[in-house]
Amino acid sequence: MVLNSGSRINQKVCFICGAGHSGSTLLGLILGSHQDCFYSGEARKARFMQNTNYPIKRTCNLCGINCPVWKDFITSTHLDLYEQISLKTQKPIVIDSTKNTSWLEEQIATIQKTSSQPFLLFLQRDGRAVINSRTRKYPQKNVKEIIDDWKELINETQELYRHFNGNKIKIKYEHLATNVESVIITLCDFLEIDYQPQMVKYYQHEHHPVGGNNGTKFLIVKAQHKNTEEFLHKVSKRCSDYYQNHGLEITLDLRWRQELDPTVERLFEEIADKENEELKWEV
Ligand SMILES: [Zn+2]
Repeated sequence: MVLNSGSRINQKVCFICGAGHSGSTLLGLILGSHQDCFYSGEARKARFMQNTNYPIKRTCNLCGINCPVWKDFITSTHLDLYEQISLKTQKPIVIDSTKNTSWLEEQIATIQKTSSQPFLLFLQRDGRAVINSRTRKYPQKNVKEIIDDWKELINETQELYRHFNGNKIKIKYEHLATNVESVIITLCDFLEIDYQPQMVKYYQHEHHPVGGNNGTKFLIVKAQHKNTEEFLHKVSKRCSDYYQNHGLEITLDLRWRQELDPTVERLFEEIADKENEELKWEV
């Protein structure tokens, strides 16, 4: 590719915001399967890539330390992160699923100073499902704290969304999981890119996400016949049973309805019913 000096490779950044455990890894991987898009995972973690103070080296956990994208990635002080990622991957659109709203505000402000366009996508999921995933994943953690954290992040994200003056959209995870094609067509329109039907078969494409849901990534490992045993170590027992028996089709995960402790559900309603009103999925 021949570039004029001063021209950018990066043209768009799509920020998937919302609470963790809301399906952003799945959505990021699907969007990242478009030929012009790269799904970075949680790009905020790129800052720590070459930080040797961490006992475990952070990298794409599909490839490990020899990842062609992140292996020698050092965040630059001259270039914004997204242009750096686009230079590395040669993809003009970067999808970032970092959830931290102060980070998002900073990055949006940075992108707005360039010729790239920021897009904000608020991925919503019924809070009861999110709380269920979190209490399972962190059984030692105080349940009230988990609920308070969720409530705070949802309020901050709503605030970010209200103030964002660019292209923005709200999508429900439950809607995505039950109508994947129509939701992805809507999102391709939103991002002003063509819909490519192979996107929904995200597991057939090459990806290098940082952070995010290991269960969803496990499906890629399985589909591409990589070393599943090695990867299963990273997934909890409950999740590995679930995902090992999981086909590659996209299905709505409503495990919370069987699993969520009724006392936790009542506490959640007391604390965060207002925040969950818009996110509730009752079908
Ligand atoms: Zn990789």
